[in-house]
Amino acid sequence: MITNKISRDGANESPWQEEPGSVKSVSNSHSPATVYDCLIVGGGITGLTAALLLQKEGKQTVIADAHTPGFGTTGGTSAHINTFADTTYAEAEAAFGAEGAQLFADAIKEGMGLIKSNIENYKIDCDYESKPGYLYAENDDEAKELADIYEGAVKVGVTVQYARDVPTPVPYRQALVFEGQAQFHPLKYLKALHQAYVEAGGIVLENKLIESIVQENGVHLAGDIRAKSVVYATHMPPNINVFNFECAPYRSYVIAAKLHSGKYPEALIYDCQEPYHYVRSHNVEGQTLLLIGGLDHKTGHEDPEKAFAELEKYARKYYNISSIKYRWSSQYYVPVDGFPYIGQMPFTADGIYCATGYNGNGMMLGSIAGKILSDLVCGKENKYADVFSPSRVKPIDGFTEFAKENADAAYHFVSDRFNFRETDSLNRLQPGTGKLVEVDGRKIAAYRDDEGNIHALNPVCTHAGCIVNWNGTEKSWDCPCHGARYDIDGNVLTGPATHNLKKIKNE
Ligand SMILES: Cc1cc2nc3c(=O)[nH]c(=O)nc-3n(C[C@H](O)[C@H](O)[C@H](O)COP(=O)(O)OP(=O)(O)OC[C@H]3O[C@@H](n4cnc5c(N)ncnc54)[C@H](O)[C@@H]3O)c2cc1C
Repeated sequence: MITNKISRDGANESPWQEEPGSVKSVSNSHSPATVYDCLIVGGGITGLTAALLLQKEGKQTVIADAHTPGFGTTGGTSAHINTFADTTYAEAEAAFGAEGAQLFADAIKEGMGLIKSNIENYKIDCDYESKPGYLYAENDDEAKELADIYEGAVKVGVTVQYARDVPTPVPYRQALVFEGQAQFHPLKYLKALHQAYVEAGGIVLENKLIESIVQENGVHLAGDIRAKSVVYATHMPPNINVFNFECAPYRSYVIAAKLHSGKYPEALIYDCQEPYHYVRSHNVEGQTLLLIGGLDHKTGHEDPEKAFAELEKYARKYYNISSIKYRWSSQYYVPVDGFPYIGQMPFTADGIYCATGYNGNGMMLGSIAGKILSDLVCGKENKYADVFSPSRVKPIDGFTEFAKENADAAYHFVSDRFNFRETDSLNRLQPGTGKLVEVDGRKIAAYRDDEGNIHALNPVCTHAGCIVNWNGTEKSWDCPCHGARYDIDGNVLTGPATHNLKKIKNE
């Protein structure tokens, strides 16, 4: 069967990339003479949600994506739709007070509702299923954590109960059940938003990297695109910006396996380990698969091959796996104070907005960000605008990640300029692998392809000058400082970099 797979920012394939139907009547051109009401940079769940809402409001908008819609994390997500989040409601209350925690819960609920209403309104067939979500503790410390999560959720009115039976083979001490969670096929959903957007008169410009925005006579200019306002829906806004210090990039891993037993859990199940594991099932192209994911770590800090090996070991320990059909990884951003940043971008001209720092909850937070950003562009009030404002002053200093994340980025800023994590001689480089090597006193990021050719790059990240590390599973060069990623020829896969790594010619 010939399939027209959607591409994404890694060499591994996610099951979502199987062609979920193509978008009809797409226009890949815009009018340089037109001043659009809004330019949306990035066509993931955030960009398409915002763009569709704006277009339906009667605004004239254009989306520019450096690749194609779905290329970013939305094409590599695991697509759980939850009423709870990585920042627990107890943590949210500690950092932002009771009112902040309540707004966070409301925003998550509204993001979930927006997905549901889009599915209903646009009659989207995207495998949406409602399922219970279980969170279990395996020891006393985790049980205490669970108690905090329970209390925090009850306070903000999220339905949660202690569970009797969790459909997991893992021995557990205690568990919570959140009813009314859901899952879907993220790219079928995204394709349908894309179609609805095009039908509403929206324009999608593919392979259109936006490097910078300048102002000209009160209008924002991105290359030859003119717009009254701009939304950076790029997951991480490009270039050097304040979010490089307020968000830490993380890689996360997923495998999709067939089981001998044929018995797949009809639930979303999470443990409380650090890093954690989760499982859910999904019917992909007529075959049911168990998705097992987690083992997140900071980008460029650990060996991705080891993470996959550990995930597979974990999966095989608890499930009778007959074959592994997919394995892939993707990137998300942890905000230093636990809440996403959605709104006017700090230190830029008025009318340039952004959304980032969703943690692993971008289905709900990306959707609600689409609504918040669309309201801001339209000049409407939005009750979440203040609490998620990128310029917010956090009322209570209860979240401890800030120092940790910043210290780490600062360490790499300094140490990368003086040390390489690894040096090796070029001739020991195996086909299909990459490594930082030293040749004649010169540092290079070298990849040897299957034909034996060396692809040599300057390893200095073009974003902020840190040194990239090899990611053998996605065949990419990943920056440990702010998460920029490049392919084997140095082309940008993931921002905030907007310039490719420099090629070093074979001399
Ligand atoms: C493995 C994994 C599992 C996850 N599972 C879940 C889950 O179960 N539930 C959940 O809620 N969340 C989950 N998340 C988080 C969620 O997937 C993301 O938060 C969400 O997909 C981000 O969407 P986005 O539209 O903001 O960004 P993206 O999907 O990354 O889209 C950004 C787009 O911008 C484009 N772009 C970037 N820079 C430029 C530029 N300079 N010019 C033009 N275009 C540009 C890119 O090509 C891309 O298409 C998971 C994340 C990971 C990594």
